[in-house]
Amino acid sequence: MRLVQDLETTLRVLPKVELHVHLEGSFTAGRIVELARAAGEPLPEAPDRLLAVGSLPALLARLDWWCGLVRSAEQAEAQAHDFAGALAADGVAYAEVIVNPTHWSGLPRPVLLEAVSAGFGRAAAEGHADCWLLVSLLRSQTEDGALEVVRELERRPPERLVGLSIDGNEAETGPTGGRFAPAFGLAGALGLGRVAHAGESSGPEGVVSALDDLGVSRVDHGIRIVEDDGVLRRVADQGVTLDVCLSSNLALVHPDLELHPIRRLVDAGVAVTINTDDPATLGVTLTGELALATRHLGWGRAGAVAAVARAIDASFASGATRAALRSGLAAYAAV
Ligand SMILES: [Zn+2]
Repeated sequence: MRLVQDLETTLRVLPKVELHVHLEGSFTAGRIVELARAAGEPLPEAPDRLLAVGSLPALLARLDWWCGLVRSAEQAEAQAHDFAGALAADGVAYAEVIVNPTHWSGLPRPVLLEAVSAGFGRAAAEGHADCWLLVSLLRSQTEDGALEVVRELERRPPERLVGLSIDGNEAETGPTGGRFAPAFGLAGALGLGRVAHAGESSGPEGVVSALDDLGVSRVDHGIRIVEDDGVLRRVADQGVTLDVCLSSNLALVHPDLELHPIRRLVDAGVAVTINTDDPATLGVTLTGELALATRHLGWGRAGAVAAVARAIDASFASGATRAALRSGLAAYAAV
């Protein structure tokens, strides 16, 4: 027990980087109750059951409800700001936070994205985690709808925008192939980073499509590439980073850590980062996830530092920000 506590204490002060986390999964039960009261909406469950969602479809449905309770720019700004504060309290130095406007039915898309960006900016100025925005498409959107999102980002870029993402339930939508290629192509032309959820609810073919059709440099989850040796080798050889979320997988798709693909991914030389996915919903922190991975893989402190270094390398941060993060990491490692 003492050893476990010591590892978590050590990792809490490690200046961490989070690349796969959804603002939609940052709502605490207390915040949801407050927002429901302000919106005059009844709770579908007792407050202590609001976050208890045991499957990906159930989670996505519940996210739609609580994000839809956000009805003002001030509320969205506060959610972003307070989340950056929670990340700072866990020792997160930098985060790229996914926001999928399709979940936030109570606000027009540009209003939402500018409010979130403003909340992140205010938090950063106060010394909280340095949070940046990944605007995410939904797998079930149309090709034109997706392209319009990126055109709007071109016309009216939120200040803290760093990339384009795509998420949603691929098991439900089936392979989307090149449907999102035009949107991702434009994002690339605009100099935005590109990342996609794949290889969680889809198999290895979802990861191949993300690489070939969308031109991503990172894949969120991606764990099912272990089902195809060729894809596993390709991802390792090309240096594609997989943003893995252990507790999320354990809760939604892979109940047994011993059978989780992360060990095979690491052994195959894949660049793996450790992330939370939906921290408030799952009741996890990045410190806890890094501790879980460190214990499971026998990494030790140096292995945990190396995982954060990989996250810095794979981030869409500016050169100056990356240099600052690297020197913070080096200072931690030197003690
Ligand atoms: Zn995710």
